[in-house]
Amino acid sequence: MSMKISRRKLIKTAAAVAAGLGTEIISPAAMAKKSDSIQKFDIIPDNNADLPKAKGPRAVVVGGGFSGLTMAKYLKKYYPSFDVVLVEKNSMFFSCPISNIWLVGAESTDFLLHSYDDAALGNNYIFYNATAINADRNSRILYTDKGKIKYDYLIVAPGIDYDYGKIGVGPDQEYILRKKYPAAFMPGSEHLSLRYKLRRFKGGIFLLTVPSGNYRCFAAPYERACMMADYFKKHRIKGKIVLLDMNPEITIAPDSFHNAFNELYKDYIEYHSDVHIVGVDIEKRQVKANFEGFKDIYDFTDAAIYPPIRAAKLIEIMGIAKPNSQFEADIDPFTYQVKGDEYTYVTGDARPMGYSKSANTANSEAHFVSKIIAMHAQGKPLPKWKSPTTICYGAIKYGPLESNYVSTRYKYSGRQLVGFTDVVLRSRWSRLLGRKNIPWATGLYNDMFK
Ligand SMILES: Cc1cc2nc3c(=O)[nH]c(=O)nc-3n(C[C@H](O)[C@H](O)[C@H](O)COP(=O)(O)OP(=O)(O)OC[C@H]3O[C@@H](n4cnc5c(N)ncnc54)[C@H](O)[C@@H]3O)c2cc1C
Repeated sequence: MSMKISRRKLIKTAAAVAAGLGTEIISPAAMAKKSDSIQKFDIIPDNNADLPKAKGPRAVVVGGGFSGLTMAKYLKKYYPSFDVVLVEKNSMFFSCPISNIWLVGAESTDFLLHSYDDAALGNNYIFYNATAINADRNSRILYTDKGKIKYDYLIVAPGIDYDYGKIGVGPDQEYILRKKYPAAFMPGSEHLSLRYKLRRFKGGIFLLTVPSGNYRCFAAPYERACMMADYFKKHRIKGKIVLLDMNPEITIAPDSFHNAFNELYKDYIEYHSDVHIVGVDIEKRQVKANFEGFKDIYDFTDAAIYPPIRAAKLIEIMGIAKPNSQFEADIDPFTYQVKGDEYTYVTGDARPMGYSKSANTANSEAHFVSKIIAMHAQGKPLPKWKSPTTICYGAIKYGPLESNYVSTRYKYSGRQLVGFTDVVLRSRWSRLLGRKNIPWATGLYNDMFK
């Protein structure tokens, strides 16, 4: 199968990326009809990106999250001849880990925000603030909204997108839901909206959801429920968190979170498992669920609705998605190479392996994958597969912070991922673990930005 893509297809995909979830594709002709002023507007810029000339083999990393930032730094470290370019659509880094603690005012905004420019300057790579649109993998060209970039290696680490279709929500409703009741599970404005909502909340039901599937950060929805409940308690808000879990049971450290809900937040958290969400009535502020013929309605005053997730749309647009329900990338699980293409790699939450989609996983994995690519570029034998490490602190109380803790690595039998190894679970939350929670995140930021 040829990897060459036509200009016609590129134009379509540009519109798809611009539309976010890519359902509506606007042709140039249709756009011209919409506005007479748009006559010869090229949606895909055919110019070269405004970048310094490459001084060595160019490794382009798409996505400046936990995966992409680590990749960019360590590609340069392991092979200094690489000319590394990090392409990221946001101009500033916002950390999802620790954001539940920040949400309730127990951590500062400064702690979560970091500068891409400083990371690039300090680690001798280029930061290019642009949105990747597609790639021509035969010619090894990445197309962005600001111009095309010729590469030797391409690392795609764009994270996730939400899949609202899985909770019965169509495109029109999705737009409103994203704005009015954002999930706040992707870096950026959503988190700020949720924080304003919490500050404005006067009482009633604040509804949160836990998606089914391999969603981003297993502990985070339960952690958020605890943090918000503690906020209600401390601010004497006559409110309740209704936590609708699409899974049959709490997906991580269930004893710990059940105990926290019962011991600390009995009057503040109402937990429902096995809730098969089939729709949201935005006008009436109701979530509809259906289970074996039984219909349930959950009313809410305000909400943060976290739908099931999929790999970022870019993976599908590039034609490298697995036809599974989360459209993750079709890569070799040990080398992270896209099948049949030794110059394209996918890392982070867009990977298909059943690892926890979390920051520590993405960071430790990127240490390994950057080494693989550095060795490949030098024609040296590739290192043996090394498991990523998942580390998760779940904040239970704040002021002072008390957390639980889970860490694990993964094991294969042949090419089959068979489960976990070196599991450590600290179910009983404590101040001691709370004191380690923030330094853990600082360690990750230092590893990416310093
Ligand atoms: C509330 C919350 C709490 C969490 N807590 C923890 C925790 O305690 N521990 C933990 O380990 N993990 C935690 N996580 C999970 C962690 O944040 C993610 O798993 C991690 O960010 C995944 O890294 P990534 O690089 O794959 O994706 P991301 O960090 O999302 O990065 C992807 C980047 O790609 C960019 N991008 C996407 N498409 C394009 C494009 N077309 N062009 C250019 N750029 C693009 C995005 O803007 C983004 O910056 C938490 C997440 C949330 C939401």
